[in-house]
Amino acid sequence: MKVVVLGAGIIGVSTAWHLLQRGHEVTVVDRQPDAALETSFANAAQISVSYCEPWANRDAPLKALKWMFRDDAPLLFRPRMPFGEGWQQWRWGLQFLAQCNDAAFERNVQQLVALGAYSHAALKDVVRTTGIDYHRLERGIAHYYTEQKSFDTAGDAAALMRKYGVARRVVSTAELLKIEPALSQFADHIVGGTYTASDESGDARVFTQSLARRCADGGVNFLYSHDVLRLDAVGNAIESVAIRARPSSAKGIKDGKLTHLKADAVVVACGSYSAPLLRSVGVDLPIYPGKGYSATFKLLKPELAPFVSTIDDEVKCAISRLGNELRVAGTIEVGSYDLSLDTPLAKARCRMLAQRIENVFPGVCDTRLEEEGGQPNFWTGLRPATPTNIPYIGKTKIGRLWVNAGHGTLGWTHGAGSGKAMAELISGEAPAMAFDFYGYPHGRRESGLSAA
Ligand SMILES: Cc1cc2nc3c(=O)[nH]c(=O)nc-3n(C[C@H](O)[C@H](O)[C@H](O)COP(=O)(O)OP(=O)(O)OC[C@H]3O[C@@H](n4cnc5c(N)ncnc54)[C@H](O)[C@@H]3O)c2cc1C
Repeated sequence: MKVVVLGAGIIGVSTAWHLLQRGHEVTVVDRQPDAALETSFANAAQISVSYCEPWANRDAPLKALKWMFRDDAPLLFRPRMPFGEGWQQWRWGLQFLAQCNDAAFERNVQQLVALGAYSHAALKDVVRTTGIDYHRLERGIAHYYTEQKSFDTAGDAAALMRKYGVARRVVSTAELLKIEPALSQFADHIVGGTYTASDESGDARVFTQSLARRCADGGVNFLYSHDVLRLDAVGNAIESVAIRARPSSAKGIKDGKLTHLKADAVVVACGSYSAPLLRSVGVDLPIYPGKGYSATFKLLKPELAPFVSTIDDEVKCAISRLGNELRVAGTIEVGSYDLSLDTPLAKARCRMLAQRIENVFPGVCDTRLEEEGGQPNFWTGLRPATPTNIPYIGKTKIGRLWVNAGHGTLGWTHGAGSGKAMAELISGEAPAMAFDFYGYPHGRRESGLSAA
């Protein structure tokens, strides 16, 4: 089959790779000059099958309300006027609220763990086949707590994960320090933690760009620096996709050429931008940007830096070592497509991340801000968030149109598996996991789909 994949983030590139493995003729379109230059660029680097709790839980509404006026809040929801684009934010917020109860939380966790386990196996397969090197560390993920009240609930969350097959366990501070001695400088503040040895970390950008190159070597056609303008539907099916080359002074292109791509299947994998594109042909999915930040610091004392990837419960950030650098990432602002880093709000959030690294790992890396002569490498990206945190993977009601988007906080973790599942569905195969694939109303079964 001829397949066009829109978007070359981790999701689009994984989809292309698995389609290629099944013998399809694949074209990938992206507006950027390379793969993984948007949300897959500088995330927290965690392959966190076991730390997959969605943001929507019974305590989230109260916390969001409390945090509404704090610029450095982990979860920031500042409502806009409920008209136009503001209406999308309100609608998303109300759908999120509907997920803030124990029954929905557990249902969502079950799905996220199923996709996570499937995806972890798929990632290991891809790494085995390709030998891609991406600063991978198979050292697990540890979650440390500084407040007793929060730590008291850690056992329940770990038990829920174990119920669905993930070996997350509660550990004392002493045990945590044996698992990751680099936390010792902060030990006086830590009341305990949890740990999952099977989780891992690695650089999503390096992996995605390397996989894209392998795809190209295998015959995938990458149309970089091309904007997807619209999906052209005739009747109830996609007839073509209109794309235009971006102007480039280096290549002497003033007005980019307009092209209409035709295919047997079109996969929308445009991250947060998938929703407006799909809505233009009547497919209305609640995928909305959840803006987050990261900072990547050069290590000054590599011997004191952590190898185990960690989650800081107090400020809800994740910390991962990537070669000679340490990355910290976190916070979510619901509903902003604005990627600027120089607003007072963005600056407050970046400063908070840098400060936290200095507090937890004092002197280990160069956390100086630019105005202090440092090079903190701040970055912001838009998580394609859904109210459940579960992505939409499957076929839409429009003929030839498929979707693989909405991976929220877990797109790197779920990337390889989402790409594989998408390629399987397009090829008429049944992915071996219990998951509600979009467009398959009775799709959730222990292995594969029950209805097509
Ligand atoms: C701060 C932060 C930390 C995170 N940490 C983790 C983590 O530790 N573990 C984890 O699993 N996940 C993490 N995530 C989530 C993860 O990064 C995302 O879920 C994932 O990158 C989404 O991938 P994607 O391919 O869907 O989107 P993207 O990477 O954004 O790819 C979409 C592509 O579509 C292209 N595109 C969009 N619109 C158009 C158009 N009109 N025309 C042409 N091209 C277009 C874009 O250029 C882009 O390349 C984090 C995210 C953030 C922001």
